[in-house]
Amino acid sequence: MSTFDVTVIGSGPGGYVAAIRCAQLGLKTAIIEKYNTLGGTCLNVGCIPSKALLDSSHHYHDAINHFEKHGIEASNVKVNFKQMIDRKAEVVSQTCSGIDFLMDKNKITVFKGFGSFKDATHINIDAENNSETIESKYTIIATGSKPSTLPFIKLDKKRVITSTEALSLTEIPKHMVVIGGGVIGLELGQVYKRLGSEVSVIEYMPKIIPTMDGMLSKELQKSLKKQGIKFYTGHKVSSVANNGNEVVITADDKKGNPVEFKGDYCLVSVGRRPYTDKLGLENIGIKVNERGQVETNDHLQTNISNIYAIGDVVKGAMLAHKAEEEGTMVAEIIAGQKPHIDYNLIPGVVYTWPEVASVGKTEEQLKESGVNYKAGSFPMRALGRARASMDIDGQIKVLADAETDEILGVHMIGARAADMIAEAVIAMEFRASSEDVARSSHAHPTYTEAIKEACLAVAGRAIHS
Ligand code: FAD
Ligand code: NAD
Repeated sequence: MSTFDVTVIGSGPGGYVAAIRCAQLGLKTAIIEKYNTLGGTCLNVGCIPSKALLDSSHHYHDAINHFEKHGIEASNVKVNFKQMIDRKAEVVSQTCSGIDFLMDKNKITVFKGFGSFKDATHINIDAENNSETIESKYTIIATGSKPSTLPFIKLDKKRVITSTEALSLTEIPKHMVVIGGGVIGLELGQVYKRLGSEVSVIEYMPKIIPTMDGMLSKELQKSLKKQGIKFYTGHKVSSVANNGNEVVITADDKKGNPVEFKGDYCLVSVGRRPYTDKLGLENIGIKVNERGQVETNDHLQTNISNIYAIGDVVKGAMLAHKAEEEGTMVAEIIAGQKPHIDYNLIPGVVYTWPEVASVGKTEEQLKESGVNYKAGSFPMRALGRARASMDIDGQIKVLADAETDEILGVHMIGARAADMIAEAVIAMEFRASSEDVARSSHAHPTYTEAIKEACLAVAGRAIHS
């Protein structure tokens, strides 16, 4: 029987990063993945393919909407949807192969098969043609998540689909009805809107991206509405029926009146659920909470002391970079180190255009907890760089403690916000004040000047607005 110091079940960004860090720390490491390719949701059917389609559709959108203004004449611009999907598949395949390379480089043993606990130190691996059992001193559960649905919706995966199918369609929908105005609904909704679909987003809460700062919800809805996406916030979906080539969705509006939507595709994007099916948690008594998440303490250790859990399968934001941080942390804990994650500083990003990015406390959270704060905002349209590229939608808002001036939250919407949020994360990691950032030189002309200006605005002294 093969024996390991650490075995990781699941090869998503949580699992493969944990495995690499374990190997770097000198631990004999194995990783088990039930699919043929490594990389989990993120690389195969999540972050990477969605960004590939967002980028391709963005190029098309620019070509038909903005090229002329830039003085570029491009006639007969058309979408070759099959090629777009093929390119996405190529990007996924290259990225997944990169993980094979990293496993090899770090001398990590890869098992392709379904892992399940026999007992606390033995794991069964069931592959197509053979089964084996390995022994492991420590195990890290990194089995991720699956799309969730509503009790009355049958996901037929042809017309009533999840993000997984939406990333590999064979035709551009005529009318895509999206249930859920969260990250997936908006990112994939924008892809198909740009490609010519009519897109209607039905959201149960009064605003889209409801957990983010209210300014972001408002500004993003305004921008996406301008691009032609229709929004039905405060609508509660009550039924979804697949009538062959047509899907009929009914929802109750804010006043309780029924509204009917007809489309050729319905994308259900109402969140994801932790995935622990057939993992054999009951064989060893690992506790799972009412939301299906594996319960852990602050060290991500389960109630069985040699077993840890990370990523989407435990509490917290379902984000690849959160899973990665947790993978690193657990590997270091197993190796006897004392790492720490500040969950308040895990940024959240929506890769629509304009992009949305956020870190720290929202204005609503500060109000609710009675924190005395100052706010400074700067509109993108006042920025030379934004005007040069014609990406003038959006703004940056900085929230700082009224007495100490420490930055408590940064919320941005605009071009390149996804990359710019790193500046705010680093500033907050070092507990910077808004004045610290305001007094740091930012290259001109760049989008990051808007961060400096928003920090200056906290003290009422923005230069360009
Ligand atoms: P996963 O990536 O889900 O990986 C778990 C792996 O475990 C899977 O490969 C699964 O097959 C395997 N597994 C499960 N059970 C077993 C078993 N018993 N035996 C063997 N293998 C098993 N996050 C971001 O931060 N940025 C984004 O831009 C982003 N975009 C997204 C877009 C979409 C469409 C979706 C669906 C998600 C997106 N996410 C994004 C979320 C991100 O993909 C997840 O947060 C991340 O993948 C979680 O990583 P994980 O390692 O916990 O689990
Ligand atoms: P989400 O939680 O972001 O959004 C779900 C939305 O559906 C919410 O706005 C919610 O209010 C709404 N909703 C719930 N029940 C509803 C109902 N009955 N009717 C109408 N609306 C309803 O979930 P998601 O968009 O499915 O994404 C799943 C996870 O994947 C998220 O946790 C997210 O973190 C992750 N993800 C991240 C990124 C990124 O980082 N850019 C991209 C895609 C997915």
